[in-house]
Amino acid sequence: MNTFNNLLAQLQGIVGAEQVLTEGDLTAYEQDWRKRERGKALAVVRPASTDEVAQVVKACAAAQVSLVPQGGNTGMVVGSIPDTTGTQVLLSLRRLNRVRAVDAANLTVTVEAGCVLQTLQEVCEKEGFLFPLSLAAEGSCTIGGNLATNAGGTQVVRYGNTRELCLSLEVVTAQGEVWSGLTGLRKDNTGYDLRHLFIGSEGTLGVITAATLRMYPLPASQLTAFAAVPSLEAAVQLLGLAHKYLNAGLTGFEVMGDFALSLVRKHFPQQTVPFAGLSPYCVVLENSDHESESHARAQFERLLEAALEDGCVLDAVVAENLAQARALWHIRESIPLAQAQEGLNIKHDISIAVSRIPAFVQETDALLEQHFPGVRLVNYGHLGDGNLHYNVQAPAGTDAQAFLRDQEGAINALVYAMVDRYNGSISAEHGIGSLKREKLAHHKSPVALNAMRAIKRALDPKNLMNPGRVLSIE
Ligand SMILES: Cc1cc2nc3c(=O)[nH]c(=O)nc-3n(C[C@H](O)[C@H](O)[C@H](O)COP(=O)(O)OP(=O)(O)OC[C@H]3O[C@@H](n4cnc5c(N)ncnc54)[C@H](O)[C@@H]3O)c2cc1C
Repeated sequence: MNTFNNLLAQLQGIVGAEQVLTEGDLTAYEQDWRKRERGKALAVVRPASTDEVAQVVKACAAAQVSLVPQGGNTGMVVGSIPDTTGTQVLLSLRRLNRVRAVDAANLTVTVEAGCVLQTLQEVCEKEGFLFPLSLAAEGSCTIGGNLATNAGGTQVVRYGNTRELCLSLEVVTAQGEVWSGLTGLRKDNTGYDLRHLFIGSEGTLGVITAATLRMYPLPASQLTAFAAVPSLEAAVQLLGLAHKYLNAGLTGFEVMGDFALSLVRKHFPQQTVPFAGLSPYCVVLENSDHESESHARAQFERLLEAALEDGCVLDAVVAENLAQARALWHIRESIPLAQAQEGLNIKHDISIAVSRIPAFVQETDALLEQHFPGVRLVNYGHLGDGNLHYNVQAPAGTDAQAFLRDQEGAINALVYAMVDRYNGSISAEHGIGSLKREKLAHHKSPVALNAMRAIKRALDPKNLMNPGRVLSIE
């Protein structure tokens, strides 16, 4: 008890007493976004500078107290909340939120970890640039969390994951030292690239405090189309045509199964979903053009004409203005919420080579329907990146809670076995956290797992950085 009290006094000395929270309503920090789990922190500590983060980490390391870094707490895999022991410090990075510099000539922005993604997008836009990371949680998630989970989102098909957008990092190590790697260099072959170790490490190797990220010129026009396609094979065929006709202009390609869209129609009847019930799948696609809107429209027309001729599109609409474009994207973004309103469900964030997705879905759908009669398959996602949110909803009219309790393990086993057969990944963009830790142990090669454990032991020998997340080192 004394150790904890001494530590709390030290932490108050570092960040100020009002930034060490131990009582009151800490739900926003202690409960995960999907409300699956709730932990209990020894304290929520809110530093405002890299130096304060370093001092906090040093104090915790000396007291052998583990730390859980947290940004916006929008993660999907229970990785950003403390465990239930009441002995972990929750390190909130949200006050570390300055945009430090915009370097127009270098096309980079240097930003602190707690900056909210949408704020960064807006700052870049004001300077005449695009920061292309885009996801439905952008109003709350932070750059540090995006880097720590290597977030994907809806523009990966053109700009890549957060990893591809990051040129350099500033990190506080598990020992409380500051690695100031913010060079903003595009070329730097001076040995191991440590940046890539910390990106995607989910807070288990160190605390990301700042990053230098790529910006892009703002496109002159962004057009959105919504197309009904006769099958998933046709959606893949359309993707190929979109790459050919739009080239680097293709900045979004999302697929939505008809059942997923029917949930949007049911729970958000105020939204107009085009082509209701016309086809088993619809696609929303985006063309960003650097010439003009008329050029973008002409390109889209050529693409859709070719697709109609090939039979891979049944019908399509192109948004006439920004409001229509937003409404079309809103349909896609509403699927997770509609699904939540329908009831508890089993989520899978998987990736498979794009070319193999139709066969994977056909085979896995059939197996699930055979072994779990009546299950409803909510299939949608970032088809342009080979990433599906392949979710399973309990049969209509049944007790969803009981269904999950009895069947979740078997359904996960079936889906992930199929993912393995197709040489895919059990976590495309959400990470591992504690939710998928045991699964990772089964689905990752032992050689890779041993290398990961060796890295963890080398960088965090006391196992104080978000212990128990991603992998166990015991
Ligand atoms: C509605 C909704 C839509 C979403 N859509 C997408 C999507 O399209 N694509 C996608 O990839 N994800 C998506 N997500 C998941 C989530 O938004 C991302 O994982 C996001 O990157 C998490 O950022 P955060 O700041 O909320 O991180 P948190 O949830 O706070 O933390 C996530 C992980 O990162 C670690 N961490 C956080 N900050 C730091 C730091 N500074 N240093 C070290 N470790 C840190 C935490 O310990 C934790 O392990 C979505 C979530 C929601 C709620």
